[in-house]
Amino acid sequence: MLVLVVNCGSSSLKYQVREVAAGTDGGTVLTSGLVENIGGPQVRDHTEALELLARRLDEELGGRTVDAAGHRVVHGGERFSAPVLVTHEIVREIERLAPLAPLHNPAAVLGLRAVLRTWPHLPQVAVFDTAFHRSMPEHVWRYAVPEEFYERWGIRRYGFHGTSHDWVTGRAAQFLGVPREDFHAVVAHLGNGASVTAVRGGRSYDTSMGYTPLAGLVMGTRTGDLDPSVVTSVLRRDPSMTPEALDGLLNTASGLRAIAGHHDMRTVQEAADRGDERAELALEMAAHRLAKYVGGYHVAVGGARALVFTAGIGENAAAFRARVCGRLGALGVVLDDDANAARSRGTRRISAPGSGLEVLVVPTDEEQAIAAATAELVAGTAAG
Ligand code: ADP
Repeated sequence: MLVLVVNCGSSSLKYQVREVAAGTDGGTVLTSGLVENIGGPQVRDHTEALELLARRLDEELGGRTVDAAGHRVVHGGERFSAPVLVTHEIVREIERLAPLAPLHNPAAVLGLRAVLRTWPHLPQVAVFDTAFHRSMPEHVWRYAVPEEFYERWGIRRYGFHGTSHDWVTGRAAQFLGVPREDFHAVVAHLGNGASVTAVRGGRSYDTSMGYTPLAGLVMGTRTGDLDPSVVTSVLRRDPSMTPEALDGLLNTASGLRAIAGHHDMRTVQEAADRGDERAELALEMAAHRLAKYVGGYHVAVGGARALVFTAGIGENAAAFRARVCGRLGALGVVLDDDANAARSRGTRRISAPGSGLEVLVVPTDEEQAIAAATAELVAGTAAG
C-alpha cells in the first residue's frame, strides 16, 4: 500500500510517500518533500498546494497512485484516543478543537479539506499528537483549579508528542523483549520542543506537557514549568505587556535561549565546552528539570524498567544524556560511557550492566508511525 503522510502547517505542507506492506512497521520512503510559501503569489492556498503535490507525485511515483493519506493533527481534544478515518464530520470536529491549538488545528483542517477536494475517494486517516495521552487517569490530567475552568474552557492536561512517545515505547519494549502491556518506562522526547512521559503498562500515565506544549521541561525557546503567578505579576507590573506578547516571550524567548542566548542544543553545548557560564547554567537547569521528572515518573509508574531518550537531542546529544543520567545515581543508573558516546543510528542500550534502569536510545520516526497507523486502519476497514 502506498501511504501519503501529510504534515500541514499554515504556510507549508510537508509530505512523504511510504510503501507499507501488510503487518509491517510503516515501510520505506519512496519520495518526500515540502511545498512552501502557501498563501504567496505562486501557491495561493492549500488546494493549490495539493494540486501541485498531485503533479509532483505523478512524476515522482512513475505513474503509481497513493492508496491512503495519513495526516498529523496536533490536537484531538478529549474525543480522539486513537487514529480515525476522516469524514466531513471528523474534519468539523477537528475544526471545533481550534481554540485548543489555534496555530495547528486550522492548518490541519485546510490540509484535510484540500485532500478531500483533490482526491475525494482517497481514504484519509487523522493521527493525533494528544491521542496517546488519553489513557492518563483523571487525577493526573486534572488541574487543581476551579471546576469552571475545565467545564467552560476544557482546561486540563492533554499532553503532546504522543505519536512519538507511543512509537518509541513500542520499539523499546520490543528491544528489551518485554510484552508491551508489562512495560513501565520513562520516555524523554527531547527536540526543540521536549516532553517526558511516564509509561505504565505500555500506555501513557502522565506527561510533562499540559494544556499546551509550554509546560514541563526547559526547552529550546519555551520556559517549561513556571509558577503561574509570574504571568499575573508581569501583566500587572508592565502596563504595556499584553497576554499575546507574554505568550510569545514564554514560548519563543525563554528556555535555553533566555539563559544561554542560543536555543540550539549543539550551539549551547559548544559554548559550555568553551567555558561559557551562561550556557553551562542553561544545561544544568535543563538537566535538573528532566532528572526531577525521571525520578517522579519512576515512582509514578511503580518502578520503571527503562529510561528512553529520543528526538534530536535525545538521540544525538551524548553529553546532555550523561549530564541527566549523572543525576540519577539514587535510582542506581549507571551509563556505559563508551556506548553513550558511540555514534549510531539504531535502537541501542547505553547503560552499564546492573544499572538500576536500562537506558536506551530509540530513534523516533513520526512519519513512519503515521504511515503504519494509516495502513492498519485502512487495511482493517477494507477487510472488515
Ligand atoms: P524538532 O522538535 O524541531 O523536531 P529535533 O528533534 O530535530 O527538533 O531536535 C533538534 C535539537 O536537536 C536541536 O536542539 C539540536 O541542536 C539538537 N541536536 C541535533 N543533533 C545534535 C547533536 N549531534 N548534538 C547535540 N544536539 C543535537
